[in-house]
Amino acid sequence: MRDLIIIGAGPAGMTAAIYAKREKLNTLLLTREFGGQMAKKEVEIENFPGMGRISAQDLIAKFRDHARSLDVDIEMEDVIKISKKGSGFLVATSSNKYESKAVLIATGADPRFLGVPGEQEFVGRGVGYCATCDGPLFSGRNVAVVGGGNTAFESALFLAKFALKIYIVEAGSQVRASADVQDKAKDTKKIEVIANAKVLRILGEKFVTGIQYSDQKSGKNVLLDVEGVFVKIGYKPASLIAKDLADLNDLGEIIYDPVTYQTKTPGLFAAGDVSALKYKQIVIACGEGAKAILSISEYFRSGGSKGRVSKKTAAVRPVKKHVRKKSN
Ligand SMILES: Cc1cc2nc3c(=O)[nH]c(=O)nc-3n(C[C@H](O)[C@H](O)[C@H](O)COP(=O)(O)OP(=O)(O)OC[C@H]3O[C@@H](n4cnc5c(N)ncnc54)[C@H](O)[C@@H]3O)c2cc1C
Repeated sequence: MRDLIIIGAGPAGMTAAIYAKREKLNTLLLTREFGGQMAKKEVEIENFPGMGRISAQDLIAKFRDHARSLDVDIEMEDVIKISKKGSGFLVATSSNKYESKAVLIATGADPRFLGVPGEQEFVGRGVGYCATCDGPLFSGRNVAVVGGGNTAFESALFLAKFALKIYIVEAGSQVRASADVQDKAKDTKKIEVIANAKVLRILGEKFVTGIQYSDQKSGKNVLLDVEGVFVKIGYKPASLIAKDLADLNDLGEIIYDPVTYQTKTPGLFAAGDVSALKYKQIVIACGEGAKAILSISEYFRSGGSKGRVSKKTAAVRPVKKHVRKKSN
């Protein structure tokens, strides 16, 4: 039996694996793939300290190589269920079952689907979720990016290298992307924003030929001729594997103790974007992974499932009162 199974190899899981090795925990990292959401980043990462501007693939390779250089045990498997077994856990993948004394869930988040007719039917035939992966296929063509946040604009900017015209289709009355990316989009002269446009269906025969949306202002249905549709409407926490053992909030995020990283089940910990964490960034996910391992280490030192992780922080330690001696 392992001490610890970490699920997920995004920034939280990979940092956790490095820290677990340093804490000498007998650890297995189970993951579907490396990099997590970073792998979906369309432009360079500019906010990871010490790296300046770096492509997501290069940063992922640095994380992965660091973990591999420490001989972290890694299996590329999709976890389908976590259950309790005695005082520990049974982690089931589609092909294996693994046992451990503790589990750290670092499964991050998955893209949200539009849920309109044609979406699933045309995945890989014009409908995509990653412009970096599929953008070059749309050279000289018209494409739509559905969504109006930073991710949608970044995708559109990446697509502008190849596509003839890019429509950003936003259901609300205005887009939510930051001013600088909106300015960059304007500068390309290829990107047009269509607001108040609620996508109704994706049309096509063998491949996508267009989308139909409802113009929320006029109430009319409009056809837009495009050969590609990139859905960029956000992410949802990949927390379903934890739902029997951990409480989830109304966004589906795992509720944990923000000091100990423990869920309501002793020995089950969570870190990164899968959890009820306010700010979701690479550097924050790394910090969460590191802190979760230090807490797990303390969990083992205090007796594992029979012990408890201290919630004391430096900030809440009682301050010794300075007693001034009376002078005679
Ligand atoms: C397009 C985009 C651009 C972004 N740009 C930036 C940026 O420039 N700077 C920044 O700081 N942040 C950025 N972010 C946010 C940042 O990427 C996330 O906050 C961060 O990746 C979260 O890390 P994580 O490890 O918690 O989860 P994730 O990165 O989501 O990783 C989750 C991991 O878990 C694995 N997994 C999931 N379910 C299972 C399962 N059932 N079994 C096994 N493995 C599983 C996945 O394969 C993946 O390896 C961006 C996010 C997106 C989507």
